[in-house]
Amino acid sequence: MQCVTSTAFGPAELLHRLRARGSGTAVSPVTHIERVPAREGRTAPWPAWTEPAVRDAFVAQGIGVPWEHQAAAATLAWEGTHVVLATGTASGKSLAYQLPALNALATDPRATVLYLSPTKALAADQLRGLNRLGMDGVRPATYDGDTPREEREWIRQHSRFVLTNPDMLHHSMLPGHGRWGVFLRRLRYVVIDECHTYRGVFGSHVAHVLRRLRRVTARYGASPTFILASATSGDPAGSASRLTGVPVTEITSDASPRGAVTFALWEPPLLPPSSGPSALDDTELGQPIRRSALRETADLLTDSVIAGTRTIAFVRSRRGAEVIASTARQSLNEAVPGLGDRVAAYRGGYLREDRRAIERALLSGELLGLASTNALELGVDLTGLDAVLICGYPGTRASLWQQAGRAGRAGDEALAVLVARDDPLDTYLVHHPEAVFGRPVEATVLDPGNPYVLGPQLCCAASEAPLTDADLELFDGHAIVEQLAAEGLLRRRPSGWYWTHRGRPEVDLRGTGGAPVSVVEAATGRLLGTVDHGSSHAMLHPGAVYLHQGVTFVVDDLDLEDAIALVHQEEPDWTTHARDVTNLSVVNVRSYVDAGPVGLFLGDVDVTNQVVSYQRRRLGSGEVIDTRPLDLPVRELRTVAVWFTVSPQALTAGGVEPGEFPGALHAAEHAGIGLLPLIATCDRWDIGGLSTANHADTEAPTVFVYDGHPGGAGFAERAYATAAEWLRATREAISSCGCDSGCPSCVQSPKCGNGNNPLNKEDAVKVLDIVLAAL
Ligand SMILES: [Zn+2]
Ligand SMILES: [Zn+2]
Repeated sequence: MQCVTSTAFGPAELLHRLRARGSGTAVSPVTHIERVPAREGRTAPWPAWTEPAVRDAFVAQGIGVPWEHQAAAATLAWEGTHVVLATGTASGKSLAYQLPALNALATDPRATVLYLSPTKALAADQLRGLNRLGMDGVRPATYDGDTPREEREWIRQHSRFVLTNPDMLHHSMLPGHGRWGVFLRRLRYVVIDECHTYRGVFGSHVAHVLRRLRRVTARYGASPTFILASATSGDPAGSASRLTGVPVTEITSDASPRGAVTFALWEPPLLPPSSGPSALDDTELGQPIRRSALRETADLLTDSVIAGTRTIAFVRSRRGAEVIASTARQSLNEAVPGLGDRVAAYRGGYLREDRRAIERALLSGELLGLASTNALELGVDLTGLDAVLICGYPGTRASLWQQAGRAGRAGDEALAVLVARDDPLDTYLVHHPEAVFGRPVEATVLDPGNPYVLGPQLCCAASEAPLTDADLELFDGHAIVEQLAAEGLLRRRPSGWYWTHRGRPEVDLRGTGGAPVSVVEAATGRLLGTVDHGSSHAMLHPGAVYLHQGVTFVVDDLDLEDAIALVHQEEPDWTTHARDVTNLSVVNVRSYVDAGPVGLFLGDVDVTNQVVSYQRRRLGSGEVIDTRPLDLPVRELRTVAVWFTVSPQALTAGGVEPGEFPGALHAAEHAGIGLLPLIATCDRWDIGGLSTANHADTEAPTVFVYDGHPGGAGFAERAYATAAEWLRATREAISSCGCDSGCPSCVQSPKCGNGNNPLNKEDAVKVLDIVLAAL
């Protein structure tokens, strides 16, 4: 296999080639080009406290001297200051914690270090790095769900650098802290890698797991220093302090060198009316307006590979990664037989051996193109690529820059392209580059005060050791502990609050309420991968078409009890699209604005959702073949919602006929959900919505938007607090869309459970005008 070691084309030349493909259409797909300049590296001497043996180990790995930010963060940590290093992809954050940690192990033969990563893959990667350094007496080891029982005892006794994840800490190490007593007593550092991933509900849980860790280590007489590594983010010190509960000092000045990046915003062209839809142009109504971002990205990937450019295409969904890879492979094989072999798909659910093989092949140049979910955001030190294609806005500017940061080697120029999906937020962004390039990166949002997180976590803490008043201070749990006692979960005794039940509290950090579902080939028993619990009903229902590495499977059976889907290989000429039904009832109102005919509310709601059927659609034409019923259980969610009501009189006075209420509200709901990530820095797929011409609880035409996580994740609250800004952007996105009666760029939604029916684009603008005028 031939290996490519240098860029065949510079970014300007490559962009020119990619654009040339679009020639013939009147409008250029490139809406904006931003030049991100190169940066010179700044080094620092090895800190004076560095042990010669530690320094020599790094030098032997080719690290002559550290970068300034590495030395600064390492020295703060060495002095005992909790520190967060928030710099770009490939800026060498590992060295910043390895240096003080290994130095501590070298100078104190009893000291220990605990390293936490959000994924097993990243921990495995770090273990390899430590093994390469080859320091004596460190005995680094990963300790996770895959660690054989017989090895666990050895690790507890002998390893001085344990690499694990918050789930393992929560489920195993903290409940069994007695067996870890020796390790915890000597704990010098806690390293929290990729700490920006601990956001939303998961982040709030991890914040309490870390408080539990601090409490338990204090009981053994240790008070470790925290070293956190983060992607570039807003207010890293604030987020890290909320996460750990201790004051943290930030280092944000990135002194590593970086090549220049040309960043293009790309809007796929409108399809000529005659061309008809295809399976890849995945609009709900079979009336595509724009070429789909998937298809566009697949073509850009194809052209990049033909140009000899090492390229990654990032896409939101697993299915998207599979589709891009298989489409590009097919096009490449048509151009040059065999060239398709140099493109692969990559995602988090793959087994470790598969992932490693793909990573090695891309690093060696054997693979030229990769279509990936954001699994690559974590861990794998895969940088220095010539081009990065981002299929659809990844939800936050922090993620966007992290993905784009995979492009560019020092001294070399690289290309990054954001390909807009047919979606209101993406459309808004490619026409408002100042919203992409002119704003700071978001802060990582987490809320340890969420009672749905705090309550269960207090129970976990109490089961590890009774809670004292000082502990309640630590967890900020005074307000909730009486309630837990009233519910019979905790019992007060003179020495503290006790967990009195047999067994331990069952708490899932990921907040998704279930184990991932394994996808197994029935005939061979081969495990193909996993799908998270939340997506499993929609992706793995019986009859669903499931793609793995470009190979098509059909689901025979979904066993929810055992979390297994059995599939067989088949190539049907249709795709499947699940339909669901949602109901919502208001539990209470936390806050509201009474604006005459318009009301704006924030409150707790109960949401039920059921995947009820799926459509089979013809590959190529998108024609609906049939709709088949499904028998899947209802799922329930108590969460937080923002909603507005408008009186029927105000709607008719504003020019909306009663018969159009449902379509107008539904269209406003879709666009509102689409634009919320602009305000609340969440993921569109984290949010749900419901609109109705008359809701039983509000007795008025109502649009609800809710957090898709138990207890809420702060998104609806943020929408309530910035409602005018949010709804104004929503109105602008709808009214400025050039389509006639609604399209995926404005009011259609890819996740609508009603097949995007009814929708009234024009009247949605009227509804929002009424609401904005009243607010
Ligand atoms: Zn439109
Ligand atoms: Zn809908």
